[in-house]
Amino acid sequence: MVRHVLGLSGGKDSSALAVYMKDRVPDMEYYFCDTGKELPETYEYIKKLEILLGKPIDMLNADRDFDHWMWVNKGLLPSAQLRWCTPNLKIKPFEMWVGEDEAISYIGIRADENREGYISSKKNIKPVYPFKEDGITRDDVFKILEDSGLGLPKYYEWRTRSGCYFCFFQRQYEWVQLAERHPDLFQKAVDYENKVGFESTASEKQFTWTGKETLTELLERKEEIIEKHNQKVKNQLSVSNNNTNLASVLENVLDSDDDTPPCLACHV
Ligand code: SF4
Repeated sequence: MVRHVLGLSGGKDSSALAVYMKDRVPDMEYYFCDTGKELPETYEYIKKLEILLGKPIDMLNADRDFDHWMWVNKGLLPSAQLRWCTPNLKIKPFEMWVGEDEAISYIGIRADENREGYISSKKNIKPVYPFKEDGITRDDVFKILEDSGLGLPKYYEWRTRSGCYFCFFQRQYEWVQLAERHPDLFQKAVDYENKVGFESTASEKQFTWTGKETLTELLERKEEIIEKHNQKVKNQLSVSNNNTNLASVLENVLDSDDDTPPCLACHV
C-alpha cells in the first residue's frame, strides 16, 4: 500500500496544503519534524491545525538534538552555506519515519515560486506539488487559510518564516522582534554565539548567526532597523493604495531586505 504523507513546517504554505488536501486525500498522514527549537507560536499553530484536520500530526524528533549535532560539527553554527541542521533535524527523522514504505510526499511549493522543495534521495519517496499543478499562488494560500478559519501563524505579526527561533535565515527586523517578543529565546541565541566565540579556534568557523555581526551588535542598531522597516512598510502600503493584506506587506518588505531562498525543508 502506498502511503500519502504531508510534512508541516509550521509555515503557511504547508499548512494551507494540508487544508487543501484534507478531503482530496482522506488517508493522508501528517508529520512535523520538531527540532525542539521552534517558536511557541509554531507549536500552538500545529495544535490548531491538528484540530482542524481531525487527525493527529506525528511529531518526529531527531535521535540527537541540535546541541549534539553542533558538537559533531565542531561547534560550528549552521549557516546557509553549511546547513548541517536541516539534514540531521528535519530530513533524517522524516526518512526514518517513512522507512522502506512506498510513499507520495505532498509538498507545499506554490505555482508562483521558483524552487523545488525538499526532494528525498530515497527512491521509495515520490514528491508531488499540488499547488504548482493547480496554479495556487500566494494570495490563494492566504484565502485557503482564512476560509478554513485557521488563519496565519501568530508569528506572522513579526516574522514570515517558520523554523527554529535562532534560524540564520531570519532578517534583521525579525531578530529585533525576537528580542522584543521572546527575550528569553533571543538570549539563548546570544548564548550560542558567546559559546562558539569562546570555544572556536579555527578562523573559518561561523561565529555569529547573521554571519556579519553578533546579535548584541545587531540589537544596538535596533532603532535604526525598526525605522528602516517602518519606512518600507509605509512605502509598500502607498504603492498598494493601502489595500494590501498586512501579512503580504510584511513578506514583501522582509524579502526586500534579504530574499535569499529559505530552507526547502523548514520554510514551506
Ligand atoms: S529552521 Fe533554520 S536553523 Fe532550524 S533546522 Fe531549519 S535551516 Fe536549520
